[in-house]
Amino acid sequence: MSVTLNLANLKSSIAEDVELVAVTKTKPDELILEAYESGHRDFGENKVQELTAKFERLPKDIKWHLIGHLQRNKVKYIASFVHLIHAVDSLKLLKEINKQAEKHDRVISCLLQIKIAKEDSKFGMTAEEAGHIIVSESLSELSNIKIAGLMGMATFTSDEKVVRSEFEYLRSTFKKLQPYNSTNVDLKILSMGMSGDYEIAIECGSNMIRVGSKIFGERQ
Ligand SMILES: *Cc1c(COP(=O)(O)O)cnc(C)c1O
Repeated sequence: MSVTLNLANLKSSIAEDVELVAVTKTKPDELILEAYESGHRDFGENKVQELTAKFERLPKDIKWHLIGHLQRNKVKYIASFVHLIHAVDSLKLLKEINKQAEKHDRVISCLLQIKIAKEDSKFGMTAEEAGHIIVSESLSELSNIKIAGLMGMATFTSDEKVVRSEFEYLRSTFKKLQPYNSTNVDLKILSMGMSGDYEIAIECGSNMIRVGSKIFGERQ
């Protein structure tokens, strides 16, 4: 297995305007560095502890994406360096990110996670909740965050129709909310699609995919 080859193959199979976040959770530094040496810079982790450890050890020009659920009490560990937080699911969390970002004199870009899967285990808010947050008065006061788009995870199933309809729903939500852009809301990113479903996601309008096992091999 060659990370360099996998990455090159994947990149050549997707349109240039689709951004690729290489998901490195559980993977050793050597494999991440292989992707880095080939020029890749956007990497994603789903746990704060693993993210901060890898940030410390690896080259500082890596753009680190937090793609997993984030607890409010852990925002402080990533606020100084995180590039994009994908799975924001409440206004309370946005307020905490804003507070920590302010301490580092940064504006942190965030995506609102919309729950599109039928499974209970998936985090996220409804499209209505996201709409309320985007137009809310208290959001406009949070000058150290920017809502840059939406993120979602489809049901883990081989039924392509289910996956497609969930991605289409997210895309239509994205389109519906886009007119409400304001000083700290600029919906440009639609983060959907993983190793098993990124092709469908792109067909449904994704412009950021999060792919791990297809690049780095299966996780244990
Ligand atoms: C693990 C993970 C991915 C990547 O999964 P693969 O199936 O390995 O591509 C994408 N998004 C999130 C939120 C993840 O936790």
